[in-house]
Amino acid sequence: MSIIVLDEATVSKIAAGEIIENPASIVKELIENSIDANSKNIIVEIKGSIGDFIRITDDGDGMDESDLNLAFLRHATSKLRTVEDLNNIVSLGFRGEALASISHISKLEVLTKTEDSLTGLRAEISNGKIDKLNNVGLPKGTTFFVRDVFFNTPVRKKYLKNDNVEFNYIYEVVQKISLGNPDISIKLIRDNKVIMNTNSEANIKNRIFSILGRDIASNLLNNTFNSESYKINIYFSNNKLYRSNRMHQYIYINGRYVKNLEISKIIEKYYYSLIPLNRYPVFLLYLDIDPILVDVNIHPKKHEVKLSKDNNVLAIIGETVEEVLYPNRRIPDPIESY
Ligand code: ADP
Ligand code: MG
Repeated sequence: MSIIVLDEATVSKIAAGEIIENPASIVKELIENSIDANSKNIIVEIKGSIGDFIRITDDGDGMDESDLNLAFLRHATSKLRTVEDLNNIVSLGFRGEALASISHISKLEVLTKTEDSLTGLRAEISNGKIDKLNNVGLPKGTTFFVRDVFFNTPVRKKYLKNDNVEFNYIYEVVQKISLGNPDISIKLIRDNKVIMNTNSEANIKNRIFSILGRDIASNLLNNTFNSESYKINIYFSNNKLYRSNRMHQYIYINGRYVKNLEISKIIEKYYYSLIPLNRYPVFLLYLDIDPILVDVNIHPKKHEVKLSKDNNVLAIIGETVEEVLYPNRRIPDPIESY
């Protein structure tokens, strides 16, 4: 055996595999891009066998020709400029890898128009390159049309689960993002049937109700906590609402859905005496925090984050729950001397 350096096309396919695991990862990356582009209405359409046809339409900022020419290159992003910016990430994307990855494992077409441009653009893309570009009449916004996912990586394709399972992954992604962005209307359509439709909701409680239903929404308690460097808004189970897994624990840090076992555990601790053994509380935590206190760059799919240790946000999250679950446990205010 002798050592060689892999060619660019092979490197890109390997990298794509890390970010795009299944059709649901494509949906996630594309919706996040739509949100970063200030969209207010997003439509996700799925047709046929999952991966054959994924179309995502938004009414966001769109791209002009020079942006479009760069968007599909690896590490091409409008959201990051320097390594210092990594300490201050407020967008959902920042690695500039999603579009490049998708273009390496599917047949991709994009339609896009900015507010200022006179006409829209239509492009066909493969392997990070635009093969065909022409002008078309379009409203402001962007549509990504993804076909034949994994057509050129047959092993990946073989490991996809059946259509209903893969569709459910997509549905979960759409639900999670919707719960984190109550001001954005998101619609999910499968084979011309509307599966989920949310209007732009005035508040989070309404969005929870419309996505998770009355059973969950009516058994949630709520508390908030504000300090200079972070804001906590948390909805959490009363003693009648619990699940057999952590599926219904939603954590949003600066609008990004993440998993964080430390947070789950600190909240679960307060339920030991309230719900049966081996059951988990339902909660939705919205944490807005100074970006310097979170590291979002620890995982290529960006779904895990690390909270800085040098503030007591973890303990405060627990206490915010405790305050409502155990109102009598609070240390009474000192009695004024009289
Ligand atoms: P990232 O989101 O990490 O920047 P992506 O590969 O997902 O990387 O996207 C590359 C760039 O393409 C983005 O930074 C953005 O400028 C542009 N872009 C992608 N999707 C959209 C969209 N729906 N509307 C407008 N611009 C978009
Ligand atoms: Mg992105």
